[in-house]
This record gives sequence, C-alpha cells and structure tokens, in this order.
Amino acid sequence: MTSNAPAPALDPARLLQSQIAVVTGAAQGIGEAIARRFAQHGAHVVLVDLNRDALELLALDLASGPGSASVVCADVSSPEDHETVHAHCRDDLGGVHVLVNNAGINRDAYLPKMSLADFDQVISVSLRGAWLGIRTLSPLMRAGSGGSIVNMSSLAGKIGNPGQTNYSAAKAGLIGLTKAAAKELGGFGIRVNAVQPGLIRTAMTERMKPEVWQAKEAEVPLGRAGTPDEVAAAVLFLASPMGGYISGAVLEVSGGRGI
Ligand code: NAP
Repeated sequence: MTSNAPAPALDPARLLQSQIAVVTGAAQGIGEAIARRFAQHGAHVVLVDLNRDALELLALDLASGPGSASVVCADVSSPEDHETVHAHCRDDLGGVHVLVNNAGINRDAYLPKMSLADFDQVISVSLRGAWLGIRTLSPLMRAGSGGSIVNMSSLAGKIGNPGQTNYSAAKAGLIGLTKAAAKELGGFGIRVNAVQPGLIRTAMTERMKPEVWQAKEAEVPLGRAGTPDEVAAAVLFLASPMGGYISGAVLEVSGGRGI
C-alpha cells in the first residue's frame, strides 16, 4: 500500500545529524571537503586515508564544529584495512550510515608507455577499493536501518580521456558497480549513487600542464573549473535524506562539461 504520510521534516542545516559516515581519501582535496561538509551537518566522520598526520589535524579541526571525527589510516586497496574500518564502525561507533568511496589516483601515460603496474594500481585503488568498501560495510548498514553509498567516479569514466585508459576504465567501472550494487542492496534500504566531477582544482589536477588545464577549462560551459566544496555539496545531497528516493543515479558535477 502506498503511504501518503508526509515525510519527516528535515533540518536543512543538519542533514546528517548523528549519522556515522566513512569518507575515504579524506586527507585532502575533494575527500577533505566532503568530510568538512558532513561534519558541518552534524555527522561523525570516519576519516580514511594513507596520510595519518593530515587526518589527525583534520579530525582536530572538525572536533570544534557541530560534528566530530575519528581517524583510520588505511589503504583502500587492502581488504585487511577495510576490516579495520569495519571493526572501528561496529565496535567503537555502533554502526555506519554513509560510505563515500572517494579515494582515487591517476597514473597517466599513453598506451605504449603505460605499464601493467600503472594500470593495476589505478584499478586497484579506485575500483577495487570501492568494491571492497561496499562489500565490507554494507552488511553493517543492513544490520542497521539501511544507508547511503556514494562512489566517486569522474567525467573521464563517461567521455574517456586519452592518456588515462586506466583511470577512465576504473571510473567507468564504478558506474557499473554503482548500478549493480543499487539493485542488490536496495531491498535492504541501502541507496548507491555515483558522482562524476569534471575539472576540479586539487593536488591531483595541479599536476597538469598549464596548457592542458586551460584547454579543459575552455570546454566548461560555466567557464571555470569547480571547487572541491562544490563536489562535496552534491555528495552531501546524495548521502542525506534529501536524496532519499535516489539510487543507481550518476550525478555530473562538471559545470556542464561533457554533456
Ligand atoms: P587528491 O587531492 O589526490 O586526493 C586523493 C586522496 O586519496 C589523497 O589524500 C590520497 O593520499 C588518497 N589516497 C590515494 N590512494 C589511497 C589509498 N590507496 N588508500 C587511501 N587513500 C588513498 O585527489 P582529488 O582530486 O581530491 O580526488 C578525489 C577523488 O575525486 C578521486 O577519486 C578522483 O579520481 C576524483 N576526481 C577528481 C577530479 C578532479 O578534477 N580533481 C575529477 C573527477 C574525479 P596520498 O596523497 O597520500 O596519495
């Protein structure tokens, strides 16, 4: 039977109040911006990255706001490290509501020069890392009252970038993973979505040659690159009850580039 009961009121200033959210790649860039947004909205954020010092500084900073944070220094390509995150959520925090599979790397080269190691490493962090996160944490979400997962894809996974066959494949793979997991986990109240950022200014893109940056920026209908916080706002929307009936979706955050 369809219920016409009004949805519970949302506090727009505290969209993740008392929620426990795991964010990978949280030490800098887009992941850090997501962690900050989530904490502003009242979440306890489990900060996951390789860089412990940066995570601890961020956790200290977040402790002075409406949310809170804890740190797990972990490599997302390692199944054992995901078990450590799981144990922290289950034993120390009592569950998990949100997972953002944000950690990703690039190892760019044209095909003749791209090594097998470059290909495997990018797939291993971006795609296998997200799959491991979903496989490890979704049972804990199921044991609670459901949850929300957001995978960080990229416009590269939609349009493909020369010199990024590894990265584009990983980011396209995340779309298949998102849709399959959305179908598999929807019955347990778990939503799974993906975000596809375009050109965002972070350490990852600051390595680009200036002429490459300018050429990409010229393709953006809004006329500029995006900020990490603009991606974080989209992730917050999908993760929070604002996106409560959205699952299996791919949200482009690209200023219109690649449409
Ligand atoms: P970033 O500044 O390089 O940040 C990525 C973070 O992930 C870094 O702190 C990095 O740590 C961490 N990380 C790397 N490998 C890891 C691993 N195995 N386990 C745990 N953490 C790991 O990159 P970003 O630009 O914020 O990118 C964040 C995500 O957005 C990535 O998935 C990226 O592909 C995606 N994205 C970015 C853009 C863009 O224009 N910037 C566009 C589309 C999609 P280390 O620094 O120690 O390696």
